[in-house]
Amino acid sequence: MRRRLIAGNWKMNTHWNEALTLVAELVHTEAQENWADTDVAIFPPSLYSRHAIEFIQNAKSGIAVGVQNCASTENGAYTGELSASMIREIGAKAVLIGHSERREYFQETNETLLAKTKLALSAQLTPYFCCGELLQDRKSDQHKEVVTRQLSSTVLTLSKEDMLTTVIAYEPVWAIGTGETASPEQAQEMHALIRQLIADAFGREVADVVRILYGGSMKPDNADALLSQPDVDGGLIGGASLKAADFSAIIRA
Ligand code: PEP
Repeated sequence: MRRRLIAGNWKMNTHWNEALTLVAELVHTEAQENWADTDVAIFPPSLYSRHAIEFIQNAKSGIAVGVQNCASTENGAYTGELSASMIREIGAKAVLIGHSERREYFQETNETLLAKTKLALSAQLTPYFCCGELLQDRKSDQHKEVVTRQLSSTVLTLSKEDMLTTVIAYEPVWAIGTGETASPEQAQEMHALIRQLIADAFGREVADVVRILYGGSMKPDNADALLSQPDVDGGLIGGASLKAADFSAIIRA
């Protein structure tokens, strides 16, 4: 049985005070509501991660903190980069890898993303590996091929143990930050495909365990329909994770 997982990607949003307030509001809401059936993770800007981790630990909260990116090398002369082991050392639990914004604006290739994924896993971080097609791929009916290629050259080459630790986020690029969301049927079709790819590579027992999140304009009013799909195990939420009320409404959905 897969536990539901709801994760918030704050991107390059919030300033210091807003970030602290948002963490405090989430911890407060968690204490008032029953989130026992759901794992919750947040991915604030990395500059704020350490503080978020300390706050969450002091409050004995179950919210996990991750970061939005890590370097594809272990250490050295890579100005501005943060290694997976540094991220783990500050108490973070997870890292987003291959978000479409990183692929597009930072030209991250599948080869780089695989290197990041392996470094994250060896640092005992959970990689949230993002995949998803562009609008033109969907329009030309190439969405399944595109996602299959993204996964075949990356996570599907991992060891079984590493695959079991990895979370996949299916995020159709045309739905990210656009207000347009995949229909529950479209999401289910792609999640079932991804699960089948995992089953083909690692066996059905592994495929039945790996969590596959949907991301792309998930909001309180569409979360229930998306999350009721059998292969949708949770959500990776951008915009709606910046308001504690919206994020917690999705957790409750
Ligand atoms: C995301 O960036 O991962 C995302 C899903 O964003 P949004 O929810 O704003 O579409």
